[in-house]
Amino acid sequence: MSGLNAEFIPPARPVIGEAEIEAAVRVLRSGRVVQGPEVAAFEAEFAELVSGRHCVAVNSGTSALQLTLMALGFGPGDEIVVPSFSFAASANAVRLVGAEPVFVDIEPGSFCIDPAAVEAAITPRTVAIMPVHLYGHPAAMDRLMAIAERHGLAVVEDAAQAHGAALNGQPVGSFGTAGCFSFYPTKNMHSLEGGMITTADAELARTLRLLRNQGMEQRYANEIVGANMRMTDVAAAIGRVQLTQLAGWTEQRRANAKVLDSRITGMVTPPVADGALHVYHQYTVRVTGDRDAASQRLTELGIGNAVYYPTPIHRLKPYLTEDGKPGPWELPETERAAAEVLSLPVHPSLSPDELERIADGANTAGGAR
Ligand SMILES: *Cc1c(COP(=O)(O)O)cnc(C)c1O
Repeated sequence: MSGLNAEFIPPARPVIGEAEIEAAVRVLRSGRVVQGPEVAAFEAEFAELVSGRHCVAVNSGTSALQLTLMALGFGPGDEIVVPSFSFAASANAVRLVGAEPVFVDIEPGSFCIDPAAVEAAITPRTVAIMPVHLYGHPAAMDRLMAIAERHGLAVVEDAAQAHGAALNGQPVGSFGTAGCFSFYPTKNMHSLEGGMITTADAELARTLRLLRNQGMEQRYANEIVGANMRMTDVAAAIGRVQLTQLAGWTEQRRANAKVLDSRITGMVTPPVADGALHVYHQYTVRVTGDRDAASQRLTELGIGNAVYYPTPIHRLKPYLTEDGKPGPWELPETERAAAEVLSLPVHPSLSPDELERIADGANTAGGAR
């Protein structure tokens, strides 16, 4: 019971260090705070993470997804295949441009979209596939890209949780038509709020730059109708500092996961697919017994934990049919994951002591009833 008096281990510990604060103050003192040279430098530096793709910074991960779908010209009448087992933002972006999300199931090991289910869901209206690299595990991009090519579909990677993840040595965000990252504080790196779109297509990158800034490249020479989804130079300066730490943080997350993998026996630890480089945005176990009891026990032991996501998107209110029922989706692995998953702390600032407590706690709570 020694754990009861120990300090609470939070599920995430966003870093706002002296370097981030100094960077923000430097930009604030410069008087040049909106999108400018810091954003341009952040984009150039982020490109190294995605095999030199064009990078377009925006004000959030959701904006990144929405702007990408806008830039690709998707809207009413179009269907976009998405996993239901994700954060709502994935499907929200589809709806925000007036297109329809078509929900498909996940593979139970990776928690990512199931390529066979994707192929079965394609109709003449399908325009794109949106794989989500959930929890930092890369989706099966090799198989998904083959399907997309066969059917002439765009692929928009939701990489909001997967900075630096890779499959067979290729980084996420460099496979699809575009990749979308988030820099929300709890993500693997942050810019307070922010997002990045990555693409190999120079023309698409230009359209994205126009769309994020009222359709202007030159001031008051508006070329198309655009939004204001710009990142500030203050945010970009913070993101640049974080980016220099990302590789070390990822290594630490992976080392932490390895310790938990080897120590946890009371719950099902997360498998990693062949060739996948998992960056452990979340360390997500399955609890096959009473999950609520396990979660409560962990909390009593001072170990932060959370369920991502208790309700699959297709069961959220905006995605129900007019009579308030879920649509015709059959998503058994999604339902099972939503009922079983539990995420434990894996963030890079955990001490060896805290890691021990998390593993011991998981083993104790795994048997909780
Ligand atoms: C966080 C997240 C987003 C949205 O990013 P924001 O920066 O919060 O808008 C989209 N998709 C997934 C899977 C996420 O985890």
